[in-house]
Amino acid sequence: MKFFSSPATDKIETYKYPFSFIAPTKYVGGWVRQITATKLPVATKVAGAQMRLDRGGVRELHWHVEAEWGYMLYGEARVTVVDEQGRGYVNDVKAGDTWDFPAGIPHSIQGIGHDGAFFILGFNDGNFNPFDTFTVSDWISHTPKDILAKNFGVPSSTFDNIPSKLVYIFPGEMPRPLQFEQNYAAQTTGYAPQSYTFSSSKMKPTVTRNGGTVKIIDRSNFPVSDFAAAIVTLKPGALRELHWHPNADEWQYYIQGRALVNYCIILPYRNLYFHLGSATMGMFNGTGITITTNFQAGDVGYVPKSKGHYVENTGDVDLVFVELFPTPLYEDVSLASWLAHTPSRVVSENTKTSEKFVASINKKKAVIQPF
Ligand code: MN
Ligand code: MN
Repeated sequence: MKFFSSPATDKIETYKYPFSFIAPTKYVGGWVRQITATKLPVATKVAGAQMRLDRGGVRELHWHVEAEWGYMLYGEARVTVVDEQGRGYVNDVKAGDTWDFPAGIPHSIQGIGHDGAFFILGFNDGNFNPFDTFTVSDWISHTPKDILAKNFGVPSSTFDNIPSKLVYIFPGEMPRPLQFEQNYAAQTTGYAPQSYTFSSSKMKPTVTRNGGTVKIIDRSNFPVSDFAAAIVTLKPGALRELHWHPNADEWQYYIQGRALVNYCIILPYRNLYFHLGSATMGMFNGTGITITTNFQAGDVGYVPKSKGHYVENTGDVDLVFVELFPTPLYEDVSLASWLAHTPSRVVSENTKTSEKFVASINKKKAVIQPF
C-alpha cells in the first residue's frame, strides 16, 4: 500500500461516489437512487441512476429534457417508446443490452424477468435529477377533467379514477406477448423505423486482447444513440492503458470486481496515491496532481474530458465496468500510440528513455495490456 498525504495546495475534487452510500427511494414495484452533481460535483455532464423493477413493476410513462442511456445489469425488461411522429416501439432487453431514449421522447420500462430487472441509467446533464421527469400521472392529475374529456373526446367520468399525484413506479400485470404489443404499437402510423434498444449482450467485442475485451456501443453501430459507451472487461492484473478522451467526459460504473483508477490532475512533483484494497483508477489532470483511487462493484467514477487516466484490475476476478460518454461517437487517444507515431528521436530525448524503447512501442493501439 502506498499513501502520500495531499499537499495543502491541492484542490482535488472527488471523482468517485458509491451508489451504496445512497438510500434507495422505494415504491411498490421497485426502487431508484441517483448520483447527480450534488453528490459528485465533478460530474457536470452525466448523472446516473440505479433502478430496480420487480417482476411486473413499471417505471411509468414519462419523458425528460435529457437523453437517457440504459444498461441492463440483471434480469429482463420491456421498454416502450413513441417517437415524435407518433410511431410506437416496443422491445425486450436482457442483461448486457443497452437502450437510448433521445431527449424529450416518451418511454416506459417494465421488469419482466423471473425476478424483474436491475439496470443503470445515464443522463447527459450532471444536474439532472431523475425525479424531475415529466410523467403521465403527474400531468393528468394536474389537468382539469373537463379538459382531459375534451382532449380525448370522451366523458369526463372516464377520468374518475386517475392517480391523484405522481406515480413514478407501480406494480403492473405482466405485458402481453412482444409481437402482439409491437403490432398494437404500429397501428395506423406504422412501427418506429429506428431501434431504441441494442443487443449489446450479443455483439462481438470491438477489441480483444490477452488482457481482456472492450465492446464499443455508439452511433456507428447503434444509430439512435446520443451516447458512446465502452463495456470493458479486464482480467486480473490487466490494464486499461494510459489514455484520454478528447471529445467528452467519462462516467464510469463498476459492475464487477475491483480496480485501481489513476486520474492525473498533476501538480509537479506531487503524487497523491491511494492503494487500499485491490482496484484502482488513476486520472491525470495536467497541472501536477495524480490521484489514484480504488473502485469496486457499485461505484461510479468520473473523468473530465481530456484528463489522462488508466484502470488496473487489482482484484482476483475479471473486472467489468462501463465507460459512458455524453457524445454520440467514441474517441480516445492512447499515450502509447502518441509516442509510437511521433519521431523516435524527439520522444526519446523528451522522455529520457531511448530510441530503442520508443521504436519498440506497439504501433497498433493497445487499449488493454497485456496485448
Ligand atoms: Mn426515463
Ligand atoms: Mn477512459
